Amino acid sequence: MEISEIQIDGYEKVVRCRDEASGLHAIIAVHDTTLGPALGGMRMLPYASEDEALFDVLRLSRGMTFKSAVADTGLGGGKSVILGDPKLMKSEALFETMGRFIDSLDGLYITAEDMNIAIPDLEVVRRRTRWVTGLSRESGSSGNPSPYTALGCKVGMGAALEEALDGPDLSRRRILIQGVGAVGGRLAVMLHEAGADVLICDINEERVAQLVREHGFEAVPDEAHLEVECDIYAPCARGAIINDDTIPKLRCKIVAGCANNQLLEPAHADVLRARGILYAPDFVINAGGIINVSTELLPGGYDEEAALRKIDTVADNLRRVFEISRAEDIPTNDAAYKLAEERLSAGRVRNP
Ligand code: NAD
Repeated sequence: MEISEIQIDGYEKVVRCRDEASGLHAIIAVHDTTLGPALGGMRMLPYASEDEALFDVLRLSRGMTFKSAVADTGLGGGKSVILGDPKLMKSEALFETMGRFIDSLDGLYITAEDMNIAIPDLEVVRRRTRWVTGLSRESGSSGNPSPYTALGCKVGMGAALEEALDGPDLSRRRILIQGVGAVGGRLAVMLHEAGADVLICDINEERVAQLVREHGFEAVPDEAHLEVECDIYAPCARGAIINDDTIPKLRCKIVAGCANNQLLEPAHADVLRARGILYAPDFVINAGGIINVSTELLPGGYDEEAALRKIDTVADNLRRVFEISRAEDIPTNDAAYKLAEERLSAGRVRNP
């Protein structure tokens, strides 16, 4: 196993690993550990080049720093990527080597699940390092983060309604969810239970039909969903859904959903604002999953009650973001970065 460091300005540590025997080619990026060890998922993709993988891991690890800073998890930002086709290259040797690679950082980076990585893969990684979170609940770990992400989003929607409309109550609100997978599907059920009128769309027609059958949601065609009038539009499928083409079509008062990187460009937050649509920044409202995972690192280990209490603070974080946005007359996305920077600066004073 050959480990080498890549010098990148603004990042605490970026390391690559190449191992001929197992075929592992991976990069770990530790962006910032001011507030604690860098936690972020491991993803595996058939990147076209190491540069492409590096670009991805740098962008994602930096995002984790801001997400965790706003969520106040006591963690920093990091991420890891494995280069390779997950359908062809997964093996025990590969994940054991990845475990040794993570272990070489001695706890500076803590891993979790991300794209194309499942709990059985992480269990193999865990044989070689203890710096793994998000394993099964039976093993004492925090389990699947999706329901907690959905819960944080629901709580955050209350804060957004309070800001943009006349109060946090979800009942009778018309809420449209795009993408009813692990997070969006759970969110739909929670909102329905809170009395909201839930509309759903997804490219997976079977999944939509199943949810309509089980819960009586109204289904709308995915191609036409943007024009549907609603109080809240919740993107829970994919990134870049808020862009020059989609914003003019929106007929919602609030955009508040779980998908990562909803804005194609940061400037799209200004465009939403100019249209009078309140944007709940994605990395603030979708932090329930990372909050849940972070409680594994508490001295007594994972504690669901502590996680649930902490997930309630997603609403407080959003209220603070909206306050900064109003006071400084800036888009909510910029306000969220400002809040993260404030928390990082306070951390730098505490731990110079
Ligand atoms: P998922 O794969 O379980 O669900 C995604 C759903 O979106 C699927 O049902 C899929 O059919 C649908 N979809 C995909 N492309 C679509 C399109 N073009 N139009 C309409 N529907 C489409 O994924 P998930 O875990 O529910 O995550 C959803 C989003 O939330 C992702 O952006 C993810 O990065 C983000 N997120 C998830 C978590 C978590 O805890 N799982 C945490 C934070 C952020």
